Amino acid sequence: KKSSLSEVKVAVIGAPGVGKSALSVRFLTRRYIGEYDHQSETRYKHEVLVDNEPVLYEILDTCPKKFDDLPSSDTINWADGLLLVYSMIDKKSFTYLKRFSKIISESDIPVYVVANKNDMVHLREVSTEDGALLARDLECGFSEVAAAEQVAPVAVVYQELCRAVLAARRK
Ligand code: GDP
Ligand code: MG
Repeated sequence: KKSSLSEVKVAVIGAPGVGKSALSVRFLTRRYIGEYDHQSETRYKHEVLVDNEPVLYEILDTCPKKFDDLPSSDTINWADGLLLVYSMIDKKSFTYLKRFSKIISESDIPVYVVANKNDMVHLREVSTEDGALLARDLECGFSEVAAAEQVAPVAVVYQELCRAVLAARRK
């Protein structure tokens, strides 16, 4: 097998406060850190093995300021894959993704849907079924995770999106 480095550009998309930065920092550092930039878009590079192949992730942690701030077409055109994040304790953040989902399904870009804040199920506003239905509409994977408490399940989300990107490239 060749082991040339695959580059995978991921844009992390979702309403303000859903945990886009917490998830990305968790993936990058395995830690849950409160002190990161909350005000601006951040780019990271991170090399890991996915299925024993080296992958260089470029992660764009987007930073919409308001709920009607949808991702720009520049962001979508730049990305190889989109991580679509909502908070299961914030119905508005689910609506945010649904508003955006038409554009996504027309753009043909690999995506993955993540429901974050699984540690707060007692405050749940979005059912697992509704999340799974959105993922079915987008023909993509879906997980419920907690950036606040989990390491491996958060990494799996980035890996699954990477697999989808690499599979689309092979077509
Ligand atoms: P972003 O605006 O989407 O980047 O969201 P942040 O990563 O800045 O997180 C917004 C707030 O949600 C912060 O106070 C985080 O500490 C909190 N948060 C992020 N992930 C979780 C989680 O899994 N569980 C809980 N309870 N809070 C979280
Ligand atoms: Mg952020």
